[in-house]
Amino acid sequence: MRVAILRETQPGETRVALVTDAVKTLVSQKVEVGVEPGAGAHVGISDADYEAAGAGIVDRASLLADADVIAAVNCPRVEDLDRLHKGSVLVGFLRPLDEPAALVPAIHRGATLFSMELVPRITRAQAMDTLSSMATIAGYKAALIAADNLPRMFPLLMTAAGTVPPAKVFVIGAGVAGLQAIATARRLGAVVEAYDVRAAASEQVRSLGAKFLEVDLGGLETEDKGGYARELTEEALNRGRDLITKTAKTSDVIITTAQVPGRRAPLLIRREAVENMRSGSIIIDLAALNGGNCELTQPGETVTTPNGVTIFAPLNLPATVPVHASQLYSRNMTNLLKLMIKNGALNLDMNDEIIQGTCVAYEGQVVNQRVAAALETRATRS
Ligand code: NAD
Repeated sequence: MRVAILRETQPGETRVALVTDAVKTLVSQKVEVGVEPGAGAHVGISDADYEAAGAGIVDRASLLADADVIAAVNCPRVEDLDRLHKGSVLVGFLRPLDEPAALVPAIHRGATLFSMELVPRITRAQAMDTLSSMATIAGYKAALIAADNLPRMFPLLMTAAGTVPPAKVFVIGAGVAGLQAIATARRLGAVVEAYDVRAAASEQVRSLGAKFLEVDLGGLETEDKGGYARELTEEALNRGRDLITKTAKTSDVIITTAQVPGRRAPLLIRREAVENMRSGSIIIDLAALNGGNCELTQPGETVTTPNGVTIFAPLNLPATVPVHASQLYSRNMTNLLKLMIKNGALNLDMNDEIIQGTCVAYEGQVVNQRVAAALETRATRS
């Protein structure tokens, strides 16, 4: 069995799917590993390091054509997908619910696709949960960007020159990224408030020393079986927006992370809320990749409003921490690959809850119902 590690081609991407430790693990399981030249360049892993770990250095076209399993961070380009063969397995962040059409060439080639976004959130799969690993990095980095760009300091300081009050940070969406943003902002000395629609988040927020802001959502079911937020009614969303407008007025920083899987991120910060913020305030919109939580967000851009509020909308913060992001991603991916390998051969047990849940397409047949429905809707429209 051959596993390929590709060099990522998406602009700004610095991560690599598998680091040398992963290569050693796979080689010890009688798996042949091929690496594209320069794949680990941003992570400080040279081709020679990969070779020392037991991999071969192979050109991209051969890897795509010959590998049984292709390990990637992002979905490769269309011309790459066109080189896959029937039964090739591609594993990575494939954005199957956000951009299902991009996967069509691979599906037509008869490939088997596994998407890291779909790893079920069950205890047994925690060691494969790349979404959580990457969200942890994004939350940490968001707090640092805010601290670095705010024209004030985060901690309370009592000096001979007077007292400096602590910065007020408001975190919207207290999931994995939000909780890490809270923890990092607290460590820097900020006073932190947070809001989430899931009741379970309140205890986690409080345990980090932040204040949880409650909104009466009228007993609405806000959490699905997988622990994710559900899409809310417009009325429930408006109650959250009202709280956010009120809280924004006194916040120096807003870090917003609210997402509902497979949907556009909910719009929660109204224009009016931004207009009422003090000049110099910062918004970091971590939901930018899925459209953003703020009405004024421009995904991928940093904009400053006429009243002096700067809105950051980074699309790939984990790529700003390539070494640790790759190490964590690689460990998660290796744990998933181990489930797919038996005695050095590819062995996909489609009855396994993790394999089944993560699979988008099996040998060219779309097996994920939400992706199938999204592709059908698209075909009907065109
Ligand atoms: P996510 O990235 O999908 O969303 C981020 C946060 O936004 C969530 O906390 C969500 O509740 C919140 N949100 C959505 N709509 C909102 C709205 N209108 N207003 C305010 N907040 C809103 O979620 P995530 O961070 O990946 O995970 C969410 C939760 O899932 C985690 O906190 C955890 O409890 C659970 N989880 C479980 C496992 C596991 O069991 N293996 C692994 C990871 C996460």
